[in-house]
Amino acid sequence: MTTTAPEPTAQFTDEQLALQQRAREFVDTVLIPLEEQAETASGRLDAETIASIQRAAIAANLHGGRIPTRHGGQGWSMIEWFLVNEQFGRTTNGLHWHVPNVYNVWADATEAQIERYVPPALAGQGGDAYAVTEAEAGSDPGGIATTATPDGGDGYRINGEKWFVTSGDVARVLVVMANVIDGSERLPTLLLVEPHADGVEFVDDPRFTHNYPHGHPTIRFTDVRVEAGAVIGGLGNGEALQRRWFTEERLGIATHGLGAMWRLLEETTDWALTRRQGEHRIMDYQGISFPLADSATDAAVGRLLALQVCAMLDAGTDPKLVHAKASMAKLFVSEAAGRCADRAVQAFGGRGYMRSFVAERFNRELRVDRIWEGTSEIQRLIIARALERRGVEATIH
Ligand SMILES: Cc1cc2nc3c(=O)[nH]c(=O)nc-3n(C[C@H](O)[C@H](O)[C@H](O)COP(=O)(O)OP(=O)(O)OC[C@H]3O[C@@H](n4cnc5c(N)ncnc54)[C@H](O)[C@@H]3O)c2cc1C
Repeated sequence: MTTTAPEPTAQFTDEQLALQQRAREFVDTVLIPLEEQAETASGRLDAETIASIQRAAIAANLHGGRIPTRHGGQGWSMIEWFLVNEQFGRTTNGLHWHVPNVYNVWADATEAQIERYVPPALAGQGGDAYAVTEAEAGSDPGGIATTATPDGGDGYRINGEKWFVTSGDVARVLVVMANVIDGSERLPTLLLVEPHADGVEFVDDPRFTHNYPHGHPTIRFTDVRVEAGAVIGGLGNGEALQRRWFTEERLGIATHGLGAMWRLLEETTDWALTRRQGEHRIMDYQGISFPLADSATDAAVGRLLALQVCAMLDAGTDPKLVHAKASMAKLFVSEAAGRCADRAVQAFGGRGYMRSFVAERFNRELRVDRIWEGTSEIQRLIIARALERRGVEATIH
């Protein structure tokens, strides 16, 4: 394990560039043409269209990116994962969610757990959803009230209610964070629960700002029985597994945000160069061109940071250093992408307020990136803690 960050990757290999090109073609030819249809349908495409996206993704080998090849995935390095996910981020309406994949929590699953859930998920037959947040426990997941009580046999009874369970409405399996009761101890643990099990109840399916493919339902668990084999990654290891999961998910938000900025810059630059008002192209007005220059600078800086985090992960850098760096990438890119979308709306004028325009959709959709997987405030807390514990040099280099 190295303790220093490698230099950001300046050059990609030919194979990496070919992979990026494959992802770009998939996004440009399969996903982007469906954006307006998805917007009109509140994000919910029909089953045959979803199946056709999944077939195209599987044919292009873009599914299950980080999952080892022996489990049906691609076994990508983080740099390869970045190059593909940046392209995925170029599409609105979260259309890349249809590309079959699972969370990285499966790296700690048993072979039996993987066999039951991962290959079907990668074949497009229903994936996973992650249930941590509760009504009274959001930024501080240590405050969860959901319990898993040994049932006297070889299983547990789960009781509690989870909020904002992304993809909970379509998942084949829910990964639920609960405190296993062990005498006077509470052991935060991840447990696999099938959504059709007795006692699982979908109590709300609220509408959100974006029109994405899946919902974020509220799910109640009343005396839901699971076998001991439902524990994933060991009793009491839930928070450690979640930290690792957060690193990749936060980097994912940064990576998708960079793709969004790329697309916004393409769309807005084209528009500014062709739209004429008065005697001039609007690009000739500095009120339009300077915000574009600021967005391009934000995108370039964010890309360097995100690539550095990917290179650190590929080099096996100390996870504690990577954790704060991933927070920086998420914080910087999510806020920069929000600025970029806002500037794009302004450059498009009235069209920037129409849902048929990319700028309008991204302006709505990117807002959640400052909230989920830890709000901007929580990222700042993590970075400030790194400054205190590991010092300035280790935090910023
Ligand atoms: C669309 C969507 C999808 C989601 N998907 C999932 C999912 O799949 N699984 C899941 O488990 N959760 C999911 N979440 C939940 C998400 O992770 C939480 O909403 C988020 O962590 C914030 O928690 P909260 O909403 O309870 O806000 P709170 O924690 O109540 O925070 C409210 C405000 O207080 C601030 N605040 C809180 N604590 C501090 C502090 N210590 N210092 C400074 N400021 C603080 C926050 O930054 C925020 O601005 C999703 C949320 C959304 C909106």
